[in-house]
Amino acid sequence: MHVLVLGAGLAGVTTAWYLKHAGFDVSVVDRQPGPAMETSFANGGQISVSHPEPWANPGAPGTILRWLGKDAAPLRFIPRADWHQWLWAARFMRECLPWRTRRNTAAIAALARYSRACLEQLRIDTALHYTHARRGILHLFFDPAEAARIRDRVDELARHAIAAEACDAARCLAIEPALADMTRPPLGGIYAPDDEAGDAKEFIDALTGRLQAEGVRFHFDTRIDALDHRGGLIEGVRVTLLDGRTERLDASSYVLCTGSYSPLLVAPLGERLPIYPVKGYSVSVPIIDPARAPRVSLTDEARRIVCSPLGHTLRVAGTAELNGYDLSPNPRRQASLLEWIDTTFPGATDPATAQAWCGLRPTTPSNRPLIGKSGLVNLYYNTGHGSLGWTLACGSAAALTALMSGHRPEPDFPFLGGRFD
Ligand SMILES: Cc1cc2nc3c(=O)[nH]c(=O)nc-3n(C[C@H](O)[C@H](O)[C@H](O)COP(=O)(O)OP(=O)(O)OC[C@H]3O[C@@H](n4cnc5c(N)ncnc54)[C@H](O)[C@@H]3O)c2cc1C
Repeated sequence: MHVLVLGAGLAGVTTAWYLKHAGFDVSVVDRQPGPAMETSFANGGQISVSHPEPWANPGAPGTILRWLGKDAAPLRFIPRADWHQWLWAARFMRECLPWRTRRNTAAIAALARYSRACLEQLRIDTALHYTHARRGILHLFFDPAEAARIRDRVDELARHAIAAEACDAARCLAIEPALADMTRPPLGGIYAPDDEAGDAKEFIDALTGRLQAEGVRFHFDTRIDALDHRGGLIEGVRVTLLDGRTERLDASSYVLCTGSYSPLLVAPLGERLPIYPVKGYSVSVPIIDPARAPRVSLTDEARRIVCSPLGHTLRVAGTAELNGYDLSPNPRRQASLLEWIDTTFPGATDPATAQAWCGLRPTTPSNRPLIGKSGLVNLYYNTGHGSLGWTLACGSAAALTALMSGHRPEPDFPFLGGRFD
């Protein structure tokens, strides 16, 4: 069976990999000249199984209110005359109900655990070469109220079979000695030893190379304009090539992996995907003094910033802006990431040569990605991975492949049968 995968980011390329290895004939289409050139380009690098709690949780409304109107706040809601944005925000609030948060956390934890195992197996099977290291993730707490919850959070992670250790300030320093120079030391932390960090772009480039060598066709520089459908069936995908020529790409089945743009492509088919683009920033800085730089991946829970050493580079990412598809960078937000590096690891990096980037996280109100069958006969979804698209990539793709092969996917996760709640 020929499957056309729409989008060549983390979701699309991993989907192509698992489908190909399950015996499907696979092609991939993307508007960019290569893979992982949009949101998967320079993310925080964390495989963060230890962070299954969704953004929408009982504490979120209060935190968001506190941050309202503050330009440099970790989360910024910029109201627009866009019903899609307001509907998404209302659904986000609904997901903050305690029982919904518990349900979403359990689903994300199950998929994340499975995904990390799939990534490990893929590395064993392929000996894929990309920058990565498994040294765990250390979550740092600076706010007394949040630090007081460390033990409860560790217990909660244990209930989801995720290994984590509650740490006092001294233990945080023992795990990551480079924190000794920090101007504002943490009150405590949670260390998840099985988590890891890796360069998603390098991973996807290497995987694409393997797939091309195995005969998978990649149509790059090819913009998807519309999905032709009749009687509940996708008949083909209308595309525009770089030289302006238009074509139709046909397949037996289609998988939508177009990130934040997914809702726009299927709205004309009557499918309403609850995905909204949430802009985030990253800076990548060369490490000039390895003794002062971290070796462990870190999450600053107060400022919602993640930091991953990726070889000779330190990648720091964070902040969330709900402002539609606007990709113009906010220099203040980029500066705040550089400032964080300077106060956390003074002298470790060379900020003058920092590379700044921003991307749109394809975010659902529940933080659960949409994986499974659409309301159309031969259209599937693997999209909406929000802030965890690297963590969940391999597991989501392997699970979708199981579904498309007529098998029951391994993780206990609400896969789609064509309806969304
Ligand atoms: C600042 C930041 C930090 C992050 N940190 C982490 C982290 O540490 N750990 C983690 O797990 N996740 C992280 N994420 C999230 C993760 O990067 C995303 O969830 C993931 O990249 C989404 O992958 P995707 O394949 O769904 O989307 P994309 O990577 O955006 O891929 C979609 C593809 O579809 C193509 N496309 C779209 N529309 C069309 C069209 N009309 N025609 C043709 N092609 C089209 C695009 O060109 C693109 O290549 C972070 C995200 C951001 C922004």
